Amino acid sequence: MSRSPYQRYSWQSDIFETANNDIERFMALLNEECQRLNLQQRVLGKVEGQPIMMLQSPNASAGLPSILISAGFHGEEAAGPWGMLHFLSSVSPELFERVNLTLLPLNNPTGFIKGHRFNIFGENPNRGYLAGVDDAKPTVEGKILLEHGQLIQAASKDGILTCHEDVLQTRTYLYSFEPRQQPGKFSQQLLGALSEYFDVAQDDDIDGCPVENGFIFNHFDSSFEAWLVRSGAKVGACSETPATQNFDRRILANSAVMQRFVDYIQAQ
Ligand SMILES: [Zn+2]
Repeated sequence: MSRSPYQRYSWQSDIFETANNDIERFMALLNEECQRLNLQQRVLGKVEGQPIMMLQSPNASAGLPSILISAGFHGEEAAGPWGMLHFLSSVSPELFERVNLTLLPLNNPTGFIKGHRFNIFGENPNRGYLAGVDDAKPTVEGKILLEHGQLIQAASKDGILTCHEDVLQTRTYLYSFEPRQQPGKFSQQLLGALSEYFDVAQDDDIDGCPVENGFIFNHFDSSFEAWLVRSGAKVGACSETPATQNFDRRILANSAVMQRFVDYIQAQ
């Protein structure tokens, strides 16, 4: 089996009382959370009139760890963005006294609206960031993010989490990056959060990468997350929830892995 870039997926969320691709409701609820938490909103660029947004802690401080969470690079992987909304709704403003948090909630809005993987130009928005790895060139979304590359690199210097889903899987797994030979506490903590919602993938090859104990470890492709780790982020992870499973459960798992990531960084 392989992933179709244009197959359209639709799911209903009871938590948010809407469909996975309802961008208007998503943006409205996101805006409510930004107001409540006093997050700084910035539009990095637009794709077909839809914003690529960055949200940041109200008062970033040089003495605090700087971490980035991103979601929505693939349009059908909708539990990432909705999970971020769920995560934000559980955050209290005091969090920003302990971490500088930056969020990229929806990086492929045209794919999200269609409920399909690629953007409407048929490009994969999670390739083309790290040069020299493959032939991929930055997409329209990638160019917008790379135009703000220094800002994004600074925002992720203590860690990057990016939240994806896998429409072919019934189990969860994690791409992770740590400066060591085997997955360490960071990787274990994040997979642990996911495993409270789904069984962990058995050892196998997924997309040509060996999965061992649920991890694809220190795998450098031209993805957004690999680029940021190469750029100096201390740790990195890309969570993969199984999109054959219940949508709300996937939303809760994404929210939980984001919370675990923030907790891990604060405990360092
Ligand atoms: Zn993905």
